Amino acid sequence: SPLYGLDRWGAGLLDVNDAGEVTLRAPNDGLPTSLPKVIEALSERGIAAPFLLRIHHFLDQALLQLHNAFQSAFQSTGYQGVYRGVFPIKVNQQAEVISHLMQTGLPLHYGLEAGSKPELLIALSQPRSPESLLICNGSKDESFVRLATLSRKLGQNTVIVIESLDEFDVVHKVSTELGIRPLLGVRVKLTERVTGKWQESSGDRSTFGLGAHELVTLIDRMKAAGFLDCLVLQHSHLGSQVPDIIDIRRAAAEACRFFVELTAMGAPLTHLDLGGGLGVDYTGERRSDENSVNYTVEEYCTNVVETIRYAMDEAALPHPTIVTESGRFVVAHSSIFVFNVLGATLYDSATKPDTQEGDNHLLHDLMAVENYIDSNRFQEALNDALYYRDELRALFRRGQIGLAELARAEQGFLYLASRFKATARSRDVTGDAQAQLGSFVDYYYGNFSLFQSLPDVWAIDQLHPIVPLQRLNEEPTRQAIFSDITCDSDGKIDKFILADGASDALPVHDLKADEPYHIGVFFVGAYQETLGDLHNLFGDANVVTISLDGQGGFNIEHETEADTIAEVMSYVEYDPRDCLDAFRKTVERALAAGQVNTAERRMMIAAYKDALAGHTYFD
Ligand code: PLP
Repeated sequence: SPLYGLDRWGAGLLDVNDAGEVTLRAPNDGLPTSLPKVIEALSERGIAAPFLLRIHHFLDQALLQLHNAFQSAFQSTGYQGVYRGVFPIKVNQQAEVISHLMQTGLPLHYGLEAGSKPELLIALSQPRSPESLLICNGSKDESFVRLATLSRKLGQNTVIVIESLDEFDVVHKVSTELGIRPLLGVRVKLTERVTGKWQESSGDRSTFGLGAHELVTLIDRMKAAGFLDCLVLQHSHLGSQVPDIIDIRRAAAEACRFFVELTAMGAPLTHLDLGGGLGVDYTGERRSDENSVNYTVEEYCTNVVETIRYAMDEAALPHPTIVTESGRFVVAHSSIFVFNVLGATLYDSATKPDTQEGDNHLLHDLMAVENYIDSNRFQEALNDALYYRDELRALFRRGQIGLAELARAEQGFLYLASRFKATARSRDVTGDAQAQLGSFVDYYYGNFSLFQSLPDVWAIDQLHPIVPLQRLNEEPTRQAIFSDITCDSDGKIDKFILADGASDALPVHDLKADEPYHIGVFFVGAYQETLGDLHNLFGDANVVTISLDGQGGFNIEHETEADTIAEVMSYVEYDPRDCLDAFRKTVERALAAGQVNTAERRMMIAAYKDALAGHTYFD
């Protein structure tokens, strides 16, 4: 459906079929798979929405696209070095994702980046190509450094990236004790600042890395300690979701300057690691703002490779191995969050109230507005309707009209709202009327927790493409925002991407009785899964990984069932058995007091037990 701009942001992964269903493109031009059919088939197997749907093929495609883009850039620029990508585990730590990436990445010598001890343990447990890298970033204590250093004995290319002068002292001590020469890197703080949501994490006031003075001190210390020959990698993290390619070029050029200078000081650098920054075009607008980027992955790679080649050629240095830690680009597209709509509060009414003779004249005036909506007095009609309704509310507050009359006024206004909306559909609405009508949106209630499943939408206003997954061959007649099922008014989605830009409401269809209405939130594979929290004790939704069979169907590759209520209760230190016992005693006392009979007792205990074993979302 052109309305939602799916062809623009769909990244060549999604389409709409003749039946009006969103489809997933299969590998090798196979037959696409309909998303509503996947939902139906999963539901038959007992896996109901809300769930996170991961598509293996989308994961593979992004990884291969990144790798191939570097290979093409090498060819077109005559670059002599190689690319060794690593996946930053923090972007998606799920075992199933990491192991699939490692499998696909094996022939590409794809490696991992660990930013903490748990991530290091994960990285060390993964089968990898002997040529792949394991980059260790973040703050490291002795045991972190010990494990990383020991892994050199296994032939692993574990690079300990020194983030501070103190960290070198730890590395020095541990490797001397163990008698193992480590592979070292140094995190260089660039002075160039990049734009975008994470601009604070760039530039000389960023929290990580060494500035020029500390770098020189480090090199002197390493030289004195006989460790300079271990320094093989320079890490210069460019940021995350960098929207402007010019920032990437500038930052890469500065990284090269450090590389050249550090080499001149005797560091035998062979690897230049540019960290993260490669962005995802969530809106498909291809522009340098917070949710979009003004470049493609191919352009990113060409810019980076070209910049490094010029700088190295100028300094007569061999072309280094290029490393990037592009996590968001690799995993964002691979997951879709699907939820069902439970119901709606509509901001209109098909029924005209029966006004009564004794009703206040303002109510009669309100209903008379209907007579001039269709004319060129549309704006005037809107102004009047809002005025009369607000005056009637004021009369109620002052005790001058009763509840029944206020109810007629409210319903009368909603009746007019439906007339305004219908008229607006067939004409161009501008000026105040546009904003006034914008507030006449419907609330659709979604079976999900924003805080658990889409934390960045809540925390940093991340925009994800959101689309009804069915009926896209029908004109959507409503404009809605989505409210989740937490008891928190922040739990709503009210920013959307449409073909003509951002919008405060999503065009949706009228709900039909007995027909599910599913909404897809796209490109949620990066950062969302572990940042989510247990607000209101809504737990993890189901997670299902599928592969597309190219025949229009799919296979389930992996399934993680949603948290049960007993599980989320135990996360906050309740013992579900103790809770059941306590409830049982309360019911027993009620039975003894004659408040409930034995059948009711049985029913109550069964309901409590069933709920404990059930999921936190609506069944
Ligand atoms: N590497 C480091 C050191 C990071 O801090 C981050 C995230 O900010 C990344 C890689 C991932 O970057 P991206 O979000 O571009 O995948």
